[in-house]
Amino acid sequence: MKLDAITLSQKLIQIPSYSGVNLQVIEFLADYLKNLGFSCDFLEYDGDNSYKVNNLHAVLNPNNSKKTLYFAGHTDVVNEGNKESWTHDPFAAKIIDGKLFGRGAADMKCAIACFVSAVEEFLSTNKKPDFGIGFLITNDEENDGVNGTKKVLEWMKESNKTISHCLVGEPTNPEKFGEMIKVGRRGSIGFTVKIIGKQGHVAYPENAINPITVLLNLLKILKDHKFDDGTKFFDATNLEITSITSQNLGGNVIPNEAGAAFNVRFNDIHTSQSIIDLVEYACKKTVGFGAKYELIHRTSGESFLSKPALLAEITVNAVQKICGKKPVLSTTGGTSDARFIKDYAEVVEIGLINKTAHRIDEFSEVGEIEQLQKTYLEILKSF
Ligand SMILES: [Zn+2]
Repeated sequence: MKLDAITLSQKLIQIPSYSGVNLQVIEFLADYLKNLGFSCDFLEYDGDNSYKVNNLHAVLNPNNSKKTLYFAGHTDVVNEGNKESWTHDPFAAKIIDGKLFGRGAADMKCAIACFVSAVEEFLSTNKKPDFGIGFLITNDEENDGVNGTKKVLEWMKESNKTISHCLVGEPTNPEKFGEMIKVGRRGSIGFTVKIIGKQGHVAYPENAINPITVLLNLLKILKDHKFDDGTKFFDATNLEITSITSQNLGGNVIPNEAGAAFNVRFNDIHTSQSIIDLVEYACKKTVGFGAKYELIHRTSGESFLSKPALLAEITVNAVQKICGKKPVLSTTGGTSDARFIKDYAEVVEIGLINKTAHRIDEFSEVGEIEQLQKTYLEILKSF
């Protein structure tokens, strides 16, 4: 039975699928895709200090083409929190005043529904496309992400399943559908630094080492440092100080310790290591005169760019045709599974609006879901 993108979205939202094991949502998609002629693999991965995850690989490639367009997405949703806080049941998938409410409506079950529906419509007039169409669906993007997309891609490589281009259906638009598509992301590192000086009386500073003075000096140097001017696709690298602490021992005491935290969002001119080296160097050069420092860092993601080529061009044109305006190619926002896919294929992220993702009363506009379906269809037609 043919289901439109809205009905398919509702069916997916009605299956609460938290990260990890959920065969129901994977089987629902597999059954639908099998009817369209796809061959499906259920890939269950476990281990590597994480929990068991259900994944789905589905492909239709009647001419064994090297040119294959995949759609990648996740069926898992974040917890709905307190159900009573929701105006509408998070798993009822009700449509009210043109809005489809439910957990996963924005992030990102409706996008999966749109791609399935677009593929079905495309195949109804193109029975044997001269390129392959694939689905890489994981039920673990929101949480660990250890036994999901990364392992499916490794399995695909071992099984000689070609992936040349990939659309990721994460929500990419700030306000309105068609504003923004993503071709990469900035990297992020958090730092904490502690300066250890020597406690003493404010009246006898010559007998003390004030860690606050040293810290302020260091922070000024770091903040004033120009990392770069940005690139065609990236904003300039930026360092933001997020906290400053000291012992606050009173108005007449130079404290022994002071600390600060800061975060660096960096573009693809740098790696996490080159940023760490630079901060380390600044510490070594600035902290002297008997003071010591301790530096801790945590990298939450490297920056990456999937160089815009054929798929980016097709996607921009498709959005322009459906929405009447050109989307911005952006690298803003948090990370996504596109970071794994970019090592295998040109990857472009295009989905709905990210404003209500992970929130109470998450929703997507019905009209925008329809626009996304049409955009995916347009991409398939031009591919
Ligand atoms: Zn997501």
